[in-house]
Order: sequence, then C-alpha cells, then structure tokens
Amino acid sequence: MKDSNFFKVDVPEGALAEKWSNYKAHQKLVNPANKRRLDVIVVGTGLAGASAAASLGELGFNVLNFCIQDSPRRAHSIAAQGGINAAKNYQNDGDSIYRLFYDTLKGGDYRAREANVYRLAEVSNSIIDQCVAQGVPFAREYGGLLDNRSFGGAQVSRTFYAKGQTGQQLLLGAYSALSRQVNLGSVKLFTRYEMLDVVVIDGRARGIIARNLRNGKLERFFAHAVVIATGGYGNAFFLSTNAMASNGSSAIQCYKKGAYFGNPCFAQIHPTCIPVHGEFQSKLTLMSESLRNDGRIWVPKKKEDAEAIRAGKLKPTQIPDEDRDFYLERRYPAFGNLVPRDVASRAAKERCDAGFGVNNTGLAVYLDFKYAIERLGRHVVEERYGNLFQMYEKIVDDNPYETPMMIFPAIHYTMGGIWVDYELQTSIKGLFAIGEANFSDHGANRLGASALMQGLADGYFVLPYTIQNYLADQIQVPRMSTDLPEFLEALKEIDAKIQKLMSIKGKRSVDSIHKELGHVMWDMVGMGRTEQSLKTALERIKEIKKEFWSNVYIPGKADDLNVELEKALRLADFIEVGYLMALDGLNRNESCGGHFREEYQTEDGEALRDDEHYAYVSCWKYNGEDNDPELLKETLEYEFVKRQQRNYKS
Ligand SMILES: Cc1cc2nc3c(=O)[nH]c(=O)nc-3n(C[C@H](O)[C@H](O)[C@H](O)COP(=O)(O)OP(=O)(O)OC[C@H]3O[C@@H](n4cnc5c(N)ncnc54)[C@H](O)[C@@H]3O)c2cc1C
Repeated sequence: MKDSNFFKVDVPEGALAEKWSNYKAHQKLVNPANKRRLDVIVVGTGLAGASAAASLGELGFNVLNFCIQDSPRRAHSIAAQGGINAAKNYQNDGDSIYRLFYDTLKGGDYRAREANVYRLAEVSNSIIDQCVAQGVPFAREYGGLLDNRSFGGAQVSRTFYAKGQTGQQLLLGAYSALSRQVNLGSVKLFTRYEMLDVVVIDGRARGIIARNLRNGKLERFFAHAVVIATGGYGNAFFLSTNAMASNGSSAIQCYKKGAYFGNPCFAQIHPTCIPVHGEFQSKLTLMSESLRNDGRIWVPKKKEDAEAIRAGKLKPTQIPDEDRDFYLERRYPAFGNLVPRDVASRAAKERCDAGFGVNNTGLAVYLDFKYAIERLGRHVVEERYGNLFQMYEKIVDDNPYETPMMIFPAIHYTMGGIWVDYELQTSIKGLFAIGEANFSDHGANRLGASALMQGLADGYFVLPYTIQNYLADQIQVPRMSTDLPEFLEALKEIDAKIQKLMSIKGKRSVDSIHKELGHVMWDMVGMGRTEQSLKTALERIKEIKKEFWSNVYIPGKADDLNVELEKALRLADFIEVGYLMALDGLNRNESCGGHFREEYQTEDGEALRDDEHYAYVSCWKYNGEDNDPELLKETLEYEFVKRQQRNYKS
C-alpha cells in the first residue's frame, strides 16, 4: 500500500493477551490529591457515559455529566433488549476470551483493530461481575446460576440477559453508581442540556458549549478533558430503531474541530424490526435478535402463496411446513437463524425482492414461534420473551403466540463514529469518545449483544485507565476561564447559527425535510448501495441541505424551550452525517459487513471484500465548509489472526 495518507496506530507491545496488562502496568497515574483538581466533562448518560462518569467520580475526579433527557435513565440505552456478551463460558460449550475476540473480529468482516477487540473480549467478564455486584437482575437458571442465550454470529451461548429489558436493567445499575457519586459531590449532573460545540484551546479539548434546553440559554463549561458518549447517528435515516433524541451532532461538532470521523458508511441494518406501516410513522420498533434463538424465519416457497397473503386471501398459519422456505436454515446450515445481522438482513431483502415477501407491502418475512411453543411450551416462550411479544401485539394488533410475527430490516446501529486510538482518544488531544459514539471495535458489522459490552467496557474498564495517562500531564494546568477567546468565539458561532435558523421562516417543517433525507438514505445509502446510487445521494443531499437552510420553518423563540429548534440543529448535522456516509460508501469499492456495494458480491450474493485495497479505517478530516473532507487511512494489520472470507454455511 503506497499511499502517503496511510498511518498506523500505536498499540502496546507484547502478545495479544498481554497488551492491555502491559498498558496498565506502565501507564501514568494521577495521585488522589491531584485528581480532585482535575475536571472532566462527560457528555451522555447512556451506558457508556453513565459508567464512565460514575467510575471517574469514584476515582476522585471532578466530573460534569450532561444529557439531553430529563433524567440520565432516559438515555437511549434503556431501550436495549436482548442481552450483553461475555466470555464466561458458564455453559462449558467451548467459549473463551479468544473465541469472543475472534467472533467479533470476524463478525466485523476484519475491519476493526485487533488489539482493541481483544481488550474488549478480555474485560467482558469483569462487566458481568460488576453488574451482578450492582444488583442487575440477570436471568438465572433453576439452580440460581446466571443463564445465557445465543446471538447471531456465534455458535456458543454467551449472552447474559434480563428478559427483553437488558439495557434498562444495566442502565439502572450504572445510574445507581452514578447517583452515588452525585450524592458524594464528585459528579455534577446537567440534565436537559445539549452540547452544541467542543472548545479547543492550543490543540486540546478544554470544554464545551451547551444549550440549556429549558430556557434556551447558551452556557460555557471548562474541563481538563472532554469525553463524548453521545450514542449513534442512525436517525440520519429518519426512521430507525433509535430513540428520538439520538443524534449525530457531537460527532459532527468534533469533526469540524479537527477530530477524524471514522468509517461513517458502516451502519447496521437489523433484520428483525416491525415493518414500516405508513408514511406518517416517525419511529421503528426492534424485535430483539434474541428472538432468533427460538423463532424460525421463513417466507412462502410458492410465489402464489406470497401473493395470496399480500392480497389478504391466505393466512400464514394455513401454509403447511413443506411449503415454507426457511431460507436462512437453507442457505446457512451451520448458523441457521443465528447468522449475523448483515447476512440475515440481506437474505430477507433478497427474498422480498424476488417476490416472496409478505405483509400487504411485500416487505416482510415471518418469524415463527410455533415450533418453539411445540418444543418448549408456551410458558417457556413467555418467560423468555413475554414483554417483546406484548410489545409486538400492542403495535401490530396480532397475537404472535398464534400467528407468526412479521419482521423486516431497519436501520439500527452505527459502527462508524468519532475515530479513536487505542486509548479511546480522538485526533484532538484531551478529547475522548466512548460507546456507540466512537468508530468502535465492531468493524463493518456489530454482532448482537456487543454494543452494551463495548459501552460498559469503555466506561467502566478502559477509559478510567487511559484518560489518566492523559490527565497525568495536566496536573499543572489550572482551571481556565470560560471568558477566553476560544469559548467566546464558539459561543458567537452557535448563536449566529441559531439566529440564522430562526430567521429563515420558510415553508417546510423540520420533520418533512428530515423525512426526505431519510428516503434518500434508505433508498441510496441503505442495504444495497451502488456507485450510481451513492453519487445520486451526494447530489440529493446537497439539494436537501440547500432546501433546509433556505426553507425551514421554526416556530417559537430561540431563548425558550423550543423542541423544533432542537430538532433543526440536529437535522443540520444529520445532513452532514448523511453526506459523509455516502462519500465514504462511494470510496469503499468493496462489500464488507453492513456496507454492501452491489457491484462487489460473490456468485451466491455474499459480500466480497477487497483486503488488498481497503483493509483500513477511513478517517475523514474536515476541510472547510465548501470542500470535501480529506481521507486518511489507518492501516489494519493482523498480527495474530488470518483474514478469511466469512463463512456461516459450514
Ligand atoms: C431498540 C434497541 C435495542 C438494542 N438492544 C441491544 C442489545 O440487546 N444488546 C446490545 O448490545 N445492544 C443493543 N442495542 C444497541 C445499544 O443499545 C446501543 O448501542 C447503546 O445503548 C449505546 O449506548 P451509549 O451509551 O453509547 O449511547 P446512548 O445510550 O445513545 O446515550 C447517549 C447519551 O448522550 C446524550 N446526548 C446525545 N447527544 C447529546 C448532546 N449533544 N448533548 C448532551 N447530551 C447528549 C443523550 O442524552 C444520552 O444520555 C440496541 C439498540 C436499540 C435501538
């Protein structure tokens, strides 16, 4: 690879299993008296942010913790359903740290950094111990031991869960740890605050500007280091499984201040969501991947059956087993219904595109529990997934114990994000990114139950070490005034942006423009991308940007509670995110993980990677408002694992 834009990231010396221990043995520490003099801003109170803020507070740092919601407990993480991975091997089914590492690296189509992924697998077991100690009510077997189930991309049972509410229970654990620090005074909470910019002084992150969402006031906050834990940007697609407030704004703010944006095109489309039912919908609902443990996915074998179902003349329960095509079991005998998400999503699309889709739209497949109920009894299915079944019935008005669920892929998670090094530090010194907000350890595709693992690994077990290595050099730096020119300049720019938005007084609502962006993203930057579709998307996004900045209408006032203004500020950034996603997808002339370029596929429709030319992390560097960003490339070298074509068939 002869290209001056390539660079390598330093990782600790030694064998894979020793790197993290070596790092911890040699990193710099901050003594307790000095910790009290150092301020750290943590933006976000999801699993990543809450665990980081609680841990840093416990260590003795002075932490300022921000979130959009009125309580840290309302962060998007609360929605996580299915579970969290760890290599405990309680089942004695052959799991190990190495196997979790390997599955994660392979699942991500070899587009993640080897040393980071190993560290993630290594600390996974501590997360479970930590959460059990906090009282997280993980599901247990009859004898009292923690239970496990399987998730996609793995042949072992390593997913710990609390019914279909794992995120909620984990977040309550992190929140209780956080609350303890709030009570002790080491963490100060700023709820209903939205970060609008990061302040960089002499090349180092030194604070943020945030808007008090209750009254619209812009406020300045100093810190010796800033941690971004603001989640993913899937809502660029308008319809997604993400919480309504999930956004890509902090990633864009950091990017515009010089932090690289890593792999923006790597977005995950989840195979088991409730299908879209109309134009006036603002949210999609996930049906947890855990359902694929016991549910079997199928479409009719005969086209005429699919047509009759779409016309409302036939019910799925009337189709005999021999006329059902369990296409995942047929195509991928070794993993069956538990293939990774990208593979399952594309297979559903393939069947629907071929005319076998169900629902009146033809854009759905069945997830059927008939067989599990016959095998285990209804009460077991209810114990495992009861709340998910109830949620499905409330939304679709159909009883999934009696009729198979209908599901279809939907945008769910973003593997791309703010680029970070081994220490989770961005390309701006003192600016760290954790959880879904960073470009992550998941490569081109995240395996199920690995996001919670990564968020909590970052917050409880990685950042508390690595940030000290940075802060140890900051003990002589006094707290700075927020009247410094850099703070005032950032404030002025945000104020001007808000005034501009308020003054447009056009004819379009924020949502109508967002929906238009969403259609472009889904149709052209979605499950199947082509050179042409991406080029068209870039042009369309430029038009949408123009339309937004000339024709949006925001009612109300800037210096007040104003939800439309909040949405408009986020949409301005989603437009930038969308552009980066299309640009990155266009550059990556290969298919890998969730990035499927239709021109690059094997004869049987699988993703065709190009390791010779694209075994790198795309790091996009901001280059001014009117120019495309510069592309830098972090080389991904595999010292301990041999890259292979992913195979879930045998
Ligand atoms: C429906 C659903 C189910 C899922 N189930 C699972 C599962 O079973 N297992 C699994 O591993 N993963 C699952 N995931 C993925 C996982 O939930 C997320 O990746 C993870 O929770 C993200 O955590 P986070 O802490 O990084 O961010 P989030 O939980 O998204 O938190 C972001 C925080 O940042 C704050 N914030 C954002 N922007 C700003 C700003 N500008 N200023 C101030 N604050 C800001 C928010 O208020 C919030 O507190 C699921 C995802 C969805 C959508």
